[in-house]
Formats: sequence, structure tokens, C-alpha cells
Amino acid sequence: MFKWFGKVNFVPFTKVTDFARHLKDGRLMGTKCRSCGAFSFPPRADCEACMSGDFEFVELSGRSTLQTFTKIVAAPTGFEDVVPYTVGVVDLEEGGRALAWFGDTIAEEEIEIGMELQVVPQIFDEIEDIKVYYSLEKPGTMWSKAST
Ligand SMILES: [Zn+2]
Repeated sequence: MFKWFGKVNFVPFTKVTDFARHLKDGRLMGTKCRSCGAFSFPPRADCEACMSGDFEFVELSGRSTLQTFTKIVAAPTGFEDVVPYTVGVVDLEEGGRALAWFGDTIAEEEIEIGMELQVVPQIFDEIEDIKVYYSLEKPGTMWSKAST
């Protein structure tokens, strides 16, 4: 039964692996259904509106608004070395929501629900399990490869 679930989930996952490649190139991508035009972020290979599997990647501006945030003090497995850290959920300008860490451009005391943020692709070389991700930064912050 688990194998069956694995097979069902494997195909959509591999279809959107290009998401990581685009992030590495500094582009934050969502997907757009070629059948009905529905937009999705995070990327989704199979349209939730019309079930079509025909999609294309579209680049996002990264402009977003903070909906909520929380400070992680008790780390999930694998993140013990990096606590405490703060994560936020943003509404993207083009639609969809993203969960991401706050980057260096924002001090903890500045964080406020409703503030404008920029989602910026990052490469976290120092964290073994996450090679490519994105962080929440001040509006106008440009993508740059991790400084380490
Ligand atoms: Zn669709």
C-alpha cells in the first residue's frame, strides 16, 4: 500500500524538480496550467482546478506580504545547529503562499505582520540537507549566492 502511494506521488514530484534548478539560477518559479490557466505556488504538476497534467513554469517577482511568522526554538531533527531561527508565511503578489526563513536583511524586532517582503532565492551551502532554498528579505533585495 505504501508502495502504491509512493508511485502515485513520485511522478508529480519528478515533474517539478526543475523548480530547484531554477532557484539555483536565482529564479523563483510557480506553475501555470496550460489547460485552464490556473496559477500555483508551490509548483504543482497536476492542476488542482481541472486535473490537467499540462503545465509551464512562470517566474515570480518575489514581492509578497507577511501573513504570519514564528520563532523556532525547539529544532526539528537535522536543524539543531541553527536554532533559534524565525520563519514566516507570505502571500505572493502573483498568488500562492510561501513558507521561508527570514534572511539577514531583516532584524527580528522589525518583523511585523502585513509588512512587504521580497522572497529571494538562496544557496545554503552550510546546511547539508538544503542546498537551495529562498529567504524573506527587505523589498528590493537582489539574489546573491550565499556569502560563505
Ligand atoms: Zn487547470
